[in-house]
Amino acid sequence: MRILITGGCGFIGSHLTDALINAGHKVIVMDNLVTGSIDNIKQHLSNPDFEFIHHNVSNHIHLIGHLDWIIHFASPASPVDYLQLPIETLKVNSLGTHNTLGLALAKGARYFLASTSEVYGDPKVHPQTEEYWGHVNPIGPRGVYDESKRFAEALTMAYHHKHNLDTRIIRIFNCYGPRLRINDGRVVSNFIKQALNDEDITVYGKGEQTRSFQYVSDLVGGILKFMDVKYNEPINLGNPDEKTVLELAKIIIKLTNSKSNIVYEPLPIDDPKQRLPDITRAKTILNWNVKVSLLEGLEKTIDWYRKAKQ
Ligand code: UDP
Repeated sequence: MRILITGGCGFIGSHLTDALINAGHKVIVMDNLVTGSIDNIKQHLSNPDFEFIHHNVSNHIHLIGHLDWIIHFASPASPVDYLQLPIETLKVNSLGTHNTLGLALAKGARYFLASTSEVYGDPKVHPQTEEYWGHVNPIGPRGVYDESKRFAEALTMAYHHKHNLDTRIIRIFNCYGPRLRINDGRVVSNFIKQALNDEDITVYGKGEQTRSFQYVSDLVGGILKFMDVKYNEPINLGNPDEKTVLELAKIIIKLTNSKSNIVYEPLPIDDPKQRLPDITRAKTILNWNVKVSLLEGLEKTIDWYRKAKQ
């Protein structure tokens, strides 16, 4: 198949690119490199089945030739990034989603949207099922990401209902692994960087807030399965192994054998207090389940960061 991946130079997009190229598909990556990196896709640059186009998908997209799939993964996704790039974030998830949906319609392609557990905001329902509508502050600092992803879901469903476009939506829960930018400000990258340098580990708030961390290969496996299943409602993809941020800090200190101390810093505004996916839908519809435990995934990630440091 010929597949367009927006944001294919990013952390998740580049792993998906690897998997689709390995499966024998032709992949076009479109990225404006605002948070992604060419380094993540350099292994494909000489492959005739691969093409990189430097373009911001919030602007009109012109692409020659047929497409079987458009996979829309372009967006800043780390809270630190989308706080620095609020307008770009709003645009890529609204205008960028509109442009890519329109292109899918014109090409007769199927459409795959990367949405997020952030659509649930600071959830009042625990664990989060896909039926839960969420609890989002539209004008808070995270609103630029949360609301634009909610809009992207709404637009995708509108194209499905109005134009009969064959669409998929996944809600991605915290994902980590090799290529997660060391300076992107997320908890896993921050803690590993700090632990490897024996620097203070910055736990925000009391560290009682929870997250559930999935390893990137599990997520990519779920995406590939979902491409083969015609189901148009959103599906959560995440690891239902809930940890407090403080627990995560202690695990990373132990795995890295670090001398770091834990220090406490203010909790960011609207930081969700708990996050845990209900993955019943992914299990039943996709026959998908988590394969990589947190310890195993963190070990692989720490290993990658150690090598990247050298
Ligand atoms: N966090 C932290 N220290 C850091 C970075 C993040 O305690 O150095 C916390 C953050 O407040 C949040 C959780 O870790 O409660 C996950 O943050 P992240 O930025 O990875 O993503 P989020 O799940 O909030 O989108």
